[in-house]
Amino acid sequence: MKAKGRVPPQLALCHGCKQFVRPEEYTCPHCHDDIAMAAVRNRDRMERVTQATEELQRLLDQLGLTR
Ligand SMILES: [Zn+2]
Repeated sequence: MKAKGRVPPQLALCHGCKQFVRPEEYTCPHCHDDIAMAAVRNRDRMERVTQATEELQRLLDQLGLTR
């Protein structure tokens, strides 16, 4: 008889505090943030970083610094 066999539940990441939470949680038990809202905020932040990086690259190209 096997003792194991239960797959551990997939954990979700709280973007508010970067800790793992159960996927059925709506509010993070660690930082009490709204997990869905924290994920949206994190995605918006990453998008701004990507845009800023592209803008910087474009400016550097214009200045001829990347050649
Ligand atoms: Zn959290």
